[in-house]
Amino acid sequence: MRRVLFFLVASLLTLAFAYGLASLPGRVSVEIGNIGISARMPIAALALIVLLILTYAVLRLLGVIFRLPRRFRLWRSRRDRREGDRAVTRTLIALAAGEPVAARRQAEVARRLLGDTPQTLLLAAEAARLAERSDEAQATFRVLAERADGAFLGLRGLLREAILRADWSEAAALAARAEAIHPGGSWLRRERRRIAIETEDWRAALALADEPARAALATAAAEAETNSKKALKLAREAVAADPDLPAASLALARRLRAAGRERRAEAVIADAWARAPHPDLAQFALEPLADPLARASAAQRLAARNPNHPESRFLLAETALAAGLFGEARRQAELLRGEGIGWRRLWLLLAEVARAEAEGKESAAERDALRAAAAADADPAWRCGACGGTLAAWRAVCPNCGTPGRIHWASSPSQPASSTPPAASLEAPDAREERLPTLHPS
Ligand SMILES: [Zn+2]
Repeated sequence: MRRVLFFLVASLLTLAFAYGLASLPGRVSVEIGNIGISARMPIAALALIVLLILTYAVLRLLGVIFRLPRRFRLWRSRRDRREGDRAVTRTLIALAAGEPVAARRQAEVARRLLGDTPQTLLLAAEAARLAERSDEAQATFRVLAERADGAFLGLRGLLREAILRADWSEAAALAARAEAIHPGGSWLRRERRRIAIETEDWRAALALADEPARAALATAAAEAETNSKKALKLAREAVAADPDLPAASLALARRLRAAGRERRAEAVIADAWARAPHPDLAQFALEPLADPLARASAAQRLAARNPNHPESRFLLAETALAAGLFGEARRQAELLRGEGIGWRRLWLLLAEVARAEAEGKESAAERDALRAAAAADADPAWRCGACGGTLAAWRAVCPNCGTPGRIHWASSPSQPASSTPPAASLEAPDAREERLPTLHPS
């Protein structure tokens, strides 16, 4: 209805305008040089209107022609953007699918169409990594690292390459640069801790450590520290973090003994024995004593702090045997057997006691004990809670899986814990897994 009304009104106005135009009186004369034109007023007005419309049309056409190159450039840029975005998506798919040839080709297309942006450079570098073209990847990461907007991404790529090459000094320098640009990131924190562990910079590793690894790393830092005051402070920190870790108490006791504070060192060992006895603690405590009887007597004092623990009985038996107190040695060994201890170490001790009782001669009791030892349970040992590996001595970091702070004294192989944070691993990261760019922090 509204349209019909509009049409009627427009028609009426046009008719009124045409009528007004037709009824204009007079004539218009124009003379240009020798040419003279004379027309009635309505014709002249109509000609003027037509002339204006034509002029407008010509000006519009000129405008269109004038803007044509710019419009073409705009169209081409939009087309490139569209095609470039498609190439980016195709590169990501090829990277995810592990197709290096397609990834490199599509990354090249993206770079040509979109130019060198952090995104295209990162994709090109990751595609080169996937294709195992390390030099090409590093060159591209370096270009990225020089840009203000993509420096962290470039440094991250270079850092991962340095870690893969096990070039730890280069990795440390790159990590420091990355930390300055983008401080506090959890991925970088893990990598910096890993680099610190690899370079045995224990203090740096401790500063970056999570709670479960603090005692182990503080122990390692205390052992490596040359300044005795700082070493004591670190050792105390280690004992406070895990009073049950014999290595931590040993590190503290060693430093106290070195500082001439023998009684304090003995007290630390006695406290550690009361909480978690370990042969290394006894060995340290008895080290200054050469006389077997004095050693047996010191062993009794130490064992009294935790009298029913198997390690206390082993200590008493072994020191008694060395002091020629065979009766006491056998009594302690039999007590262990009575308590259900079936370790190889106990059967070997029983064999030694039997030989001592037989005045150094081979006996049936010794042969029985040695036969039992061959089929006995495994002795307690240092085992890694992360990979289950067994070690001859305690270490702050597992040499098999690289996890810090997971080596514990255990009587049976423990199951590798599935909750181990992979970042703590010192193994070279699976390159293929690492290759997907910043979709998620690896
Ligand atoms: Zn391990």
